[in-house]
Amino acid sequence: MALSRQRARRPREQPTEGSAGLADPLVQMPARELPQAGLGLSEAYELISSELVLDGQARLNLATFVTTWMPSIAAKLMAETADKNMIDKDEYPQTAEIESRCIDMIARLWNCPDRGQATGCSTTGSSEAAMLAGLALKWRWRERMRTAGKPCDQPNLVMGANVQVCWEKFCRYWDVEPRLVPMEGDRFHLSAHEAVARCDENTIGVVAILGSTFDGSYEPVAEIAAALDGLASERGIDVPLHVDAASGGFVAPFVQPDLHWDFRIERVQSINASGHKYGLVYPGVGWALWRSSDALPHDLIFDVNYLGGHMPTFALNFSRPGSEVIAQYLMFTGLGHDGYRKVMQGSQAVTKHLSKGIAELGPYRLISDGSDLPVFAFALAPETQHYTVFDVSDRLRQRGWLVPAYTFPPNRQDLSVLRIVVRVGMTMEMADLLLEHLREQTEILESLDGPLPAQKPDRRHAFSHN
Ligand SMILES: *Cc1c(COP(=O)(O)O)cnc(C)c1O
Repeated sequence: MALSRQRARRPREQPTEGSAGLADPLVQMPARELPQAGLGLSEAYELISSELVLDGQARLNLATFVTTWMPSIAAKLMAETADKNMIDKDEYPQTAEIESRCIDMIARLWNCPDRGQATGCSTTGSSEAAMLAGLALKWRWRERMRTAGKPCDQPNLVMGANVQVCWEKFCRYWDVEPRLVPMEGDRFHLSAHEAVARCDENTIGVVAILGSTFDGSYEPVAEIAAALDGLASERGIDVPLHVDAASGGFVAPFVQPDLHWDFRIERVQSINASGHKYGLVYPGVGWALWRSSDALPHDLIFDVNYLGGHMPTFALNFSRPGSEVIAQYLMFTGLGHDGYRKVMQGSQAVTKHLSKGIAELGPYRLISDGSDLPVFAFALAPETQHYTVFDVSDRLRQRGWLVPAYTFPPNRQDLSVLRIVVRVGMTMEMADLLLEHLREQTEILESLDGPLPAQKPDRRHAFSHN
């Protein structure tokens, strides 16, 4: 490889005094093969941190839901706790205690009836939490079917076509038929009527989303639950409800405290959320909670004793860092209920300001306005023919803003939108700057004669589902 030739020609010198911390511009980083001789850790550090400058500007990234800013004291605590292994509850009992405190705090936040010792676990994110919650649904359904002496080889899961990809993964990995309810007209997520219409005795559960990644809207959890209650009483088909509150789990309790979406609804058996979204922690931490210990089949829980002591574990991974869970506890205890409310209300105020400003620009129409999650989607008015939302996204990128454009799922593939996710760190001043840049770029697009060269929307790059 070029690199080894280069290294052979240039024997390493000892860093001269004062040069520590300066990367040698002639040194290339080993790329595809473990180098025979290392660069030395400080030189490798300098080179890697210079290389990472090429990554995006997280603050201008309005595509992702994932936390990109934490106070520096959180980074300090995370660095201090990076060596703690979450699974090793015998070696790190205090980290385990902190995890269990977080679960109890979240259980209260979500009005879990089982207070004090709630059933739940931390995960690497909502995806892992969805796998665990989905498995619990599948196990419970199988038990019901076996007891009734019925076959249990055709499980299905009912959800909107707007689900995050983790639910399609769950279905494929664990052999469950996904029953996706398509969008129709101005209905961009699951409705109670459509959900119940697809349920039968092989339905392991219904997933309701709080809120949808496509437009930030909350699905009508209480209505879906009531319709499922009706199905149980009229036809004897008792289908549990899971709420995927990846984002909304840490928004709704603070911004819409009166909205019933959580364990206050009896049919809600389990809930997941991402600590690394509006939980305000760097990736990756998520949470899965069950309404009671009965909602989580005991044979899914392993009792592991290799590390000394006995510990129950329900997880897809084994070892994983304790620092994210500890950082979650830092944010909970440092901000408290009032702090989270302030942050979320602030994000929502910025979102409303942006959506109002964009609606006033002229060619755009709002699909949502940020009343649920601090997230909204907007499309171009149908009379705009000579440029598309993909062109708008491209032009904003020239100003450094990452505002993804993407196409809706069936049956609204005719609809393409732009989406803005507002997170902590996005200020009113930044919002005004974005509005100014959008106005400027829209005027340029409006002034062009004739259609732009056709662009192929590339969903993979254009849209982060996170
Ligand atoms: C982000 C998201 C997920 C996946 O969450 P991760 O924490 O990134 O694994 C699942 N569902 C919804 C609704 C989401 O927004």
